[in-house]
Amino acid sequence: MEIYGKPIDDQTRCVHYATALDVVAIKFVCCERFYPCHLCHEQTADHEARQWPIERQGEHAILCGVCQQTLSITTYFEVSECPHCAAEFNEGCRLHKHLYFE
Ligand SMILES: [Zn+2]
Ligand SMILES: [Zn+2]
Ligand SMILES: [Zn+2]
Repeated sequence: MEIYGKPIDDQTRCVHYATALDVVAIKFVCCERFYPCHLCHEQTADHEARQWPIERQGEHAILCGVCQQTLSITTYFEVSECPHCAAEFNEGCRLHKHLYFE
């Protein structure tokens, strides 16, 4: 899976978010590309970010950087760790939910 933006390792950490728990990349609906975070998109994409519409929350727009499996937006909202490999996700991401999803 190709990760755009400014990743710094192969678990999708980036220059902006690089704690042990920052292992999720998000596909942006505007360009269908995975970025580690909204700042990566803002600084490297040539367009404004768009948010996933509510009716498309079944899309597998979340990538776990640890096991490289994807999960749906709905599943991502329900879990605090990866359902495939049990890697813990950063709860802080929820504060930025509105940047990615309607
Ligand atoms: Zn985009
Ligand atoms: Zn970033
Ligand atoms: Zn995983």
